[in-house]
Amino acid sequence: MIPFVNLKQQYLNHQIEIDKAIASVINETAFISGKYANTFENEFAAYLGIKHVMSCANGTDSLEILLKAFGIGPGDDVIVPANSWISTSESVSTVGAQVVFVDALPLKYTIDTSLIESKITKKTKAIVPVHLYGCPADMDEIMALANRYNLIVIEDCAQSHGAAYKGKKTGTIGHASSFSFYPGKNLGAYGDAGAMATNIDDVATHCRMLANHGRLGKHDHGIEGRNSRLDGIQAAILSAKLPFLEKWTNARIANAAVYNKLLANSKLILPSTPDNYRHVYHLYVVQVENRNEIQEQLKARNIETGIHYPIALPLLKAYQHLGFRPEDFPVSYSQQGKLLSLPMYAELSEEQINCVCKNLLEIIG
Ligand SMILES: *Cc1c(COP(=O)(O)O)cnc(C)c1O
Repeated sequence: MIPFVNLKQQYLNHQIEIDKAIASVINETAFISGKYANTFENEFAAYLGIKHVMSCANGTDSLEILLKAFGIGPGDDVIVPANSWISTSESVSTVGAQVVFVDALPLKYTIDTSLIESKITKKTKAIVPVHLYGCPADMDEIMALANRYNLIVIEDCAQSHGAAYKGKKTGTIGHASSFSFYPGKNLGAYGDAGAMATNIDDVATHCRMLANHGRLGKHDHGIEGRNSRLDGIQAAILSAKLPFLEKWTNARIANAAVYNKLLANSKLILPSTPDNYRHVYHLYVVQVENRNEIQEQLKARNIETGIHYPIALPLLKAYQHLGFRPEDFPVSYSQQGKLLSLPMYAELSEEQINCVCKNLLEIIG
C-alpha cells in the first residue's frame, strides 16, 4: 500500500521533539497566541527573510485578513487564477469584493500572466497569484503589472513553503503573502493554522488587530476585528518542525527528480519548471488521458493518488451565478479531466516511487 500522504511517518520520525513541544504548551497552559505563537512568528520571519509574520487560525483567514488590511472590499475587483483551491477566490467574496478569474498556464499550472492585463479595469485593486503545487507563479510579470496599474499583490503561498523565484523566497516578492499550515501542507500543524507575512509595518499592525478582535493590547480595541488566533499547541509543533523544512523540501525535490527520470518518454505530461524557479512539489501533478480510469486501476493496485482540482474554480457550482462557460477558461477546462497527483512527501522511498511508476507505466501501456 502506497498512501497519497503519510503524516504518521513524519510524526514517528520526529516524535520526541513534537511530543515535547505539545507537553510544554500544556504544562504552561499557553493555549492561545502568546509565547509560542510569537516564537514561531519570529522563527518563520527569519526563515523567509521578511520583517513581519502574523500568525492566525488558518490559511483562508490569512487571505481574508490581508485583503481587509489593504482596504479591499465592496466595489473592488481582485484577480485570481482559475485553477486553485477555493480559498483563493472564497476570501475575495467574503470581504465583499468581486473575484475575477484568469486562466492557467498549460505546463506550470500557475496564472497565465499574459491574460491578466485584459482583465484589469478601474475597479481592479489586487492580484492574488498562487504558487500552485509548489511552483512559483511568474512574479516579474505580475509585479510589473502591479506597478503599472497600482495594484496590491498578495501571494498565496499555501502550497509553496520554501519555494523560490529567481533566488527570492515566495512570500517575500509581493506586498504581502498568505501561508496555510494545514496538516498536509509542506509545513503542517496538527490542526488548522495560518500566517500572513509582509515588510510593510502598518499592514502588519492592521493584520494583527484584525486577527485579534481589533486590539493590540488588552482591552485596547481600536477597531472591530475577529477571532483568528494561532493556538499554542499548533505554534509549538510548527516551531519543532520548522528546522526540518529544508531537509523535507530537498527530499521532495529529489523525489520529483526520480519521478521525472522514470516517467520520461511516456505518454504522461510531466511538470515543467524553469531552472531559476525552486518548485517545492507540494504536489507532483502529471496529465494523463482517461485519468479517472487510471486512478481506479492504481487504487486497485494499492496506490493512492489525488486530483487537484477536478473542477476549475469558475466552473464550480459556487460560481454558477457568474455564468462562465468552459470556453472562457480553455486551459483549465481542458486539463481538469487529466490532472493526476502522484504520492509525494519527504518520507517516500525510492522503492515506493519505482513501484508507483512501474504500475502507472504498465497501466497506461
Ligand atoms: C490550503 C490552501 C489554502 C487555505 O488554507 P487553509 O489553512 O486550509 O484555510 C489557501 N490557498 C491554497 C492554494 C491552498 O492550497
